[in-house]
Amino acid sequence: MDFVYPEETFRDKPSNIDGENKRAWLFPKKPAGKWTNYRRVVAYTLLSLFLVIPFIKIGGNPLFMFNLIDRQFFIFGQIFWPQDFPIFLLFALIFFVFVILFTSIFGRVWCGWTCPQTILMEMVFRPIEYFIEGDYKQQRRLAESEWNAEKIRKRSLKQLVFILISLVMGHTSMAYLVGIDRVKELVSTSPLENMTGFLGLLLFTLLFYLVFTRVREIACTIICPYGRLQSVLLTKNSAVVAYDYVRGEPRGKINKQAGEMPKGDCIDCKLCVHVCPTGIDIRNGTQMECVNCTACIDACNEVMDKVGKPRGLIRIDSLFGIENKIPFRFTARVAMYSLLLVGLLGVFGFLLVRRTMIEAKLMRVPGTLFQRTEVGIIGNMYNIQAINKTNLLQDIEVMVDHPDAKIRFVAEELSLKPQASSSTVFFVEIPENKLEGMKTDLEFTILVGGKEIQSIKTKFVGPSKGTK
Ligand code: SF4
Ligand code: SF4
Repeated sequence: MDFVYPEETFRDKPSNIDGENKRAWLFPKKPAGKWTNYRRVVAYTLLSLFLVIPFIKIGGNPLFMFNLIDRQFFIFGQIFWPQDFPIFLLFALIFFVFVILFTSIFGRVWCGWTCPQTILMEMVFRPIEYFIEGDYKQQRRLAESEWNAEKIRKRSLKQLVFILISLVMGHTSMAYLVGIDRVKELVSTSPLENMTGFLGLLLFTLLFYLVFTRVREIACTIICPYGRLQSVLLTKNSAVVAYDYVRGEPRGKINKQAGEMPKGDCIDCKLCVHVCPTGIDIRNGTQMECVNCTACIDACNEVMDKVGKPRGLIRIDSLFGIENKIPFRFTARVAMYSLLLVGLLGVFGFLLVRRTMIEAKLMRVPGTLFQRTEVGIIGNMYNIQAINKTNLLQDIEVMVDHPDAKIRFVAEELSLKPQASSSTVFFVEIPENKLEGMKTDLEFTILVGGKEIQSIKTKFVGPSKGTK
């Protein structure tokens, strides 16, 4: 059965644009109920992690840090270099597949439950607004009222708290980029001593303040690319926050005087619309603006309790499930997708564990041929570059598999500082009469602390027979 929406006018303009094509500020009703409580637990847990993680160190390294300027990345305390790009690429691929598969099965769970924008907006900034200005009706009244002492007091207090929160969030975000020690240094010195760092902190703070005081739901409904992708990612079988139109329609108000109840279960109280932070009416069907926050589920369940109807008129379900009255369940497809995701994550985990902590590149110095000494020794110059991803000083030793070859370092042998890269050059010398021809195969073994970490094959260039 195909449901025909009573009005299609909701498609004409976004919910936050008024009749004069101006921004219409949304004043969503304070949500309450089982789903809101679950979301609070998830949101405050994630928020606490976000605030605490920059202070956690493993072996002196930050737990997570993404320093784009110095191209240093720490994940679970392990340093990653641009040379680890293949791992990042695989991670990006897995993430991409994960997002597509996950969304096609579970809809916009990310948006409603774990997205930083929703968490901060709905669980930090909005509750402060409720606390200072009251619920949606009081907020609307305050917005429409003339400026008076009460409005000045409430608005100033709200802005002050918003600035303080933006400062905390801005400084924490910066700590993920440059490390908590650097942020501490920046806040304890004069801005003039480090203008770039100071501007970075200011920019982050301003960004948080503007996004959560001005941009708000527009970030989800217009700016976010993931939100825009929903139309291609969601299928009829995706689990989304959905209105059961089969059960709810035809909607209608309760006529107490005539003692009449509407034919469908929806009593058209519009509470689901009042609580919606993006201002949409979920009864119009799945919409791109819906962030799956579940506030409308709680609101409708409360209404259903009051009118003595079963809960779940708005619930997490698939369109297919609603049409065919089949509850959402784990199908073979869902199980297969989930297994695929676990498999991909397994591969990623394996690569992480197998990742080498010291890496070396060795090659003949480009543009050089060979050197010949008076006593008939042929020399080739090689360059060795190594990266030490550990926190310890590492001495690199090089061995060559040719029985008559000798290694002679031009400067000092390679010693690597913790989490640093370095390079040096050396000669390999072989008596001319021991060479196989113009090109001799050589295999170098790189050792650290007497343990082989890598072997590299290359060529040794010599003169052709008869060349003097
Ligand atoms: S809250 Fe429930 S009953 Fe009220 S309008 Fe929304 S769907 Fe209908
Ligand atoms: S429609 Fe419901 S789930 Fe979607 S954003 Fe609005 S309140 Fe949240």
